Amino acid sequence: MPAIPAWPPKSLPRLFVRHALVVGARVELDAGQANYLGNVMRRGVGDELLVFDGGSGEWLARIAEAGKKHVTLSVEQRMRDPEVIPDIWLAFAPVKRAQTDWLVEKATELGTARLLPVVTQRTVTERVKLERLQAIAIEAAEQCGRTMLPEIEEPVALKKLLSERDPKRTLYFADETGGGRALNVFAPGPALILVGPEGGFTEDEGTAIRASANATAISLGPRILRAETAALAALAAWMSAVGDWR
Ligand code: SAM
Repeated sequence: MPAIPAWPPKSLPRLFVRHALVVGARVELDAGQANYLGNVMRRGVGDELLVFDGGSGEWLARIAEAGKKHVTLSVEQRMRDPEVIPDIWLAFAPVKRAQTDWLVEKATELGTARLLPVVTQRTVTERVKLERLQAIAIEAAEQCGRTMLPEIEEPVALKKLLSERDPKRTLYFADETGGGRALNVFAPGPALILVGPEGGFTEDEGTAIRASANATAISLGPRILRAETAALAALAAWMSAVGDWR
């Protein structure tokens, strides 16, 4: 359910729709969205909102029909082209559900292009519900103004990630045992940030990561950060150093 803004809302409601958007398209909202628009945002026939489909940008739409459980939109014009997504991927060892949800929400807000759950020797939670994480990413995109959604991969074993990764994408390995100062190490170009589980990487894993092509260890300061905090700190540092915060 999209976030409920203050009343009366300053901005138009913003919804992700699984429907190709073109001028004149009629879009049937799902029951949850129809309830949100009609009953939470108290919008009716003739009211405007913004919609995006994750590929073609942001569009202005108008409520054409509204019933108790259904709402149909009419798409009027494109308001924004799809934004350029910074080429940053985040590989993270899933942590407890609430922390993983939080991490996905924040990584989406920060503009991450792809999220890769990685299973390591000390990973406590191997199973992640992809649908759930995708719903969280959609809600975060609706709230922060993204028109493109981050891709969320199925969990992969660290060994497989290291053996199958494209060495042209620089691997920045968040290592609390020591690494270069993140802001000095980050360089322009495709990037993959790797953050360990609560228990950290094992020594063997650390050695394998450091031996991986085009991989470099980054330090996020002298304190031991929680895994989700480390992921966000690394993303924010990358965005300010070489991302779209410049
Ligand atoms: N192994 C550690 C321990 O329990 O002593 C803690 C691991 S820490 C909670 C989880 C992950 O966050 C680490 O594997 C690392 O990727 C990242 N991390 C935490 N603090 C960091 C720091 N100061 N610099 C770089 N990475 C850090």
